[in-house]
Amino acid sequence: MVGVHQPLLTRRLTGMGTTIFAEMSALAVATGSVNLGQGFPDTDGPREVAEAAARAILEGRGNQYPPGPGIPELRQAIAGHQSRFYGLDYDPDTEVLVTAGATEAIAAAMLGLVEPGDEVIAFEPYYDSYAATIAMAGGVRVPVTLRPPGFRPDIGALRAAVTPRTRAILLNSPHNPTGSVFTREEITAIAQLAVTHDLLVITDEVYEHLVYAGEHVPIASLPGMRERTVSISSAGKTFSFTGWKIGWVTGRPEVVAAVRAAKQFLTYVSGGPFQYAVAGALGQPDAYFTALRDDLRMKRDLLSGGLAELGFEVYPSDGTYFVTTDIRPLGETDGIEFCARLPERAGVVAIPSAVFYDDREAGRTQVRFTFCKRPEVLKEALARLTALHR
Ligand code: PMP
Ligand code: GLN
Repeated sequence: MVGVHQPLLTRRLTGMGTTIFAEMSALAVATGSVNLGQGFPDTDGPREVAEAAARAILEGRGNQYPPGPGIPELRQAIAGHQSRFYGLDYDPDTEVLVTAGATEAIAAAMLGLVEPGDEVIAFEPYYDSYAATIAMAGGVRVPVTLRPPGFRPDIGALRAAVTPRTRAILLNSPHNPTGSVFTREEITAIAQLAVTHDLLVITDEVYEHLVYAGEHVPIASLPGMRERTVSISSAGKTFSFTGWKIGWVTGRPEVVAAVRAAKQFLTYVSGGPFQYAVAGALGQPDAYFTALRDDLRMKRDLLSGGLAELGFEVYPSDGTYFVTTDIRPLGETDGIEFCARLPERAGVVAIPSAVFYDDREAGRTQVRFTFCKRPEVLKEALARLTALHR
């Protein structure tokens, strides 16, 4: 019989076999644990947005293949969002592409823009799809490490990582898993490096509206950057519908066309009715975005404060769904082992940040918790975690 080994692709790409998030969510269900691992909210987004999706289905909008680049209403709404929040103008017809979540946008950007052998610099710890999709494109990932407590980008290290084979810098701010938000000065320094060395910047801004301190600075808005930046975002976090998988790319026409060429053979199109709903959602008033942020800031404070009281070293999280901790003050030395045993010890699931590093040693004692859960769920998790002291 033909042997079925762990799929070669997955093994080569991630070394994990499956995604850490799926694995840990399955573990949470199997053990009845409070799941502070995978980042997804436990309350859905606005009811009127959900109703708009339901109406689209019932009224027959988007039930058949939508246009390849996305429905015009959504492309216009995305362009409108970039202009409203960042003063960036994009032509909805040639400079905007709708994708199956940011995940597909990242994959299609790699496949469409990176040639085999090209180097892509990314700050580690990095979101798991980066290593996988750079490898799918035959690219070479070049990590630059963010270090606690601030997880600030080391511009000197970034400069040193650039070689004649560097094709792109892959940026993610607000940053998953650390919660660090790069400052205007830091983004400016990265932009200058990209201009000097004529590099593309692929920027993953899915947490753009989840910033609790400082500001979100889209790198495309800096001088000389619009034409060399592929900006990626999605509706998942901004509207608390992570299952809908509506994402997008903005950039100059040639770049968007290259990403679209790859996207055509990944999904071609997806989520027709959801595209109508997200087109409407992007027009939410400012108060919506402020309330979302304030609610998550309160949850961040609740979880961060509780974890600190329990003895974790808690690094500041200025954005995203996540807070990173260090478990050494608890007498622990290995995050992977700690997270593997946490369900049985305390009935809680968290993510060992080591899986986001090439340099596993750099993240060995870091553990990521998500706070995008109802306050009572966060409190229950904190109560359970007191078991660590028994
Ligand atoms: N990038 C980062 C940094 C993320 O945390 C996520 C969340 N899953 C994604 C991309 C993927 O977004 P989407 O669900 O829209 O595919
Ligand atoms: N972005 C989510 C996280 O980091 C997970 C998304 C996924 O499961 N791929 O937890």
